[in-house]
Amino acid sequence: MTTTDTPAAASRAAEDLNPLHIGRQQLDRAMKHVPSLKQGLVEFLKCPLRTITLCFPVEMDDGSVRTFTGYRVLHSRVRGPGKGGIRYHPDVTADEVRALAGWMTWKCALADIPFGGSKGGVVCNPKELSQAELRRITRRYIADLGDNIGPHTDIPAPDLYTNEQTMAWIYDTYDAMHPGENNRPVVTGKPVDLGGSLGRSEATGRGCLEATRHALARGAVKGLASLTGARVAVQGFGNAGSVAARLFREAGAVIVAVSDSQGGVFSERGLDVKAALEFKARHDTVVGLPGTKTVTNAELLSVSCDVLIPAAMENQIRGDNAGQVKARLVCEAANGPTTPAADDVLRRNGVTVIPDILANSGGVTVSYFEWVQNIENEQWTLEEVNDKLRVKMQRAVDAVLDKWVELNGLVGGGPAATGQLAENRHKVAVDLRTAALAVAVGRVAHVALERGIWP
Ligand code: GLU
Repeated sequence: MTTTDTPAAASRAAEDLNPLHIGRQQLDRAMKHVPSLKQGLVEFLKCPLRTITLCFPVEMDDGSVRTFTGYRVLHSRVRGPGKGGIRYHPDVTADEVRALAGWMTWKCALADIPFGGSKGGVVCNPKELSQAELRRITRRYIADLGDNIGPHTDIPAPDLYTNEQTMAWIYDTYDAMHPGENNRPVVTGKPVDLGGSLGRSEATGRGCLEATRHALARGAVKGLASLTGARVAVQGFGNAGSVAARLFREAGAVIVAVSDSQGGVFSERGLDVKAALEFKARHDTVVGLPGTKTVTNAELLSVSCDVLIPAAMENQIRGDNAGQVKARLVCEAANGPTTPAADDVLRRNGVTVIPDILANSGGVTVSYFEWVQNIENEQWTLEEVNDKLRVKMQRAVDAVLDKWVELNGLVGGGPAATGQLAENRHKVAVDLRTAALAVAVGRVAHVALERGIWP
């Protein structure tokens, strides 16, 4: 039996799941809607400025030596220094990091923060590494990157399986290499007592909440005006997913399902998110949470709900399973969870998707706040951070919804036009991802031309 023997497997095999190719397909769709974009500029915006590949040895706890591969990709610095997280995962590839760096460029432009885009990754399995090994990997990776990162050139942050502790090691390594300078703005997502911002650890999930609330208030989803009583399923229970589950619950939603890499749990009446967090802390998975039914990650995507939050990895919703999504709204807390083929299925089925570059931009937005606080040697209150985040998220949602209305041929923006479009789903030829990218690409292209092509 080959891997393409079932129809679902055949359609998955037919779909190109390389994230870089997917990012470029998304751009092709959007660039059609950016007037006067010269062909040469299109190529420039698609292509990362540089990809650094490092191979470095690390001594393991048992005295053996292992060689690791790490990447740091700078996609664009048109609007400011590169900005983007570092992920530690066994499946990291150069193309994945390139795609993620590109999405950072569009995300920062959409959030209207003065950064370009970048991303890093080390091929490793943190679940099988000790803290001491992770520390040595981090220090060696950062030391070998040398001055390719810096407070005004390229600024890392957390991503999959990296956290505040990783950022503290990054800061410490860079600081040892640049004594006597204010090095705090070289990395964001640091522990608060090391210059981290209040609210940063919750920011991705909070940003999802703010984006969803504002999109619903503007009538973007037919028949769903608020989160009160809305049924929500969350795939992924890491930082973004677990915080989103908690905050959506606090906002009045009912969390019917959550999952992690080992599987998921479902409850028709709604889960106790706090209990799920405690269970996960004790058992390293949510599977087995008392009073719930076990589901697979694939089943979680098709549970009956109003809002589906993919908060795990890329390529979860594809051409072969998008038809099973029952949610009315997909809010992408993860980067790249939906493929272009899935986007088409969801649009045809009337499912609205708040795309990653909008939905999860709360993380990098508060990273920007952290960077500003570090430069000024200030610390803002949590209230200040969350208020500023809300304003940023609402502005970004407004820009995307206005563009969505315009690109679908309706005149005038505002809630009335958004609601009108949501009511007439058959008229929607352009989805929110394409609208969001059109806004972001337009902003980057405008600044590129304003600066002038050098020399
Ligand atoms: N890794 C996060 C993202 O994909 C945050 C990046 C940052 O804060 O720089 O948006």
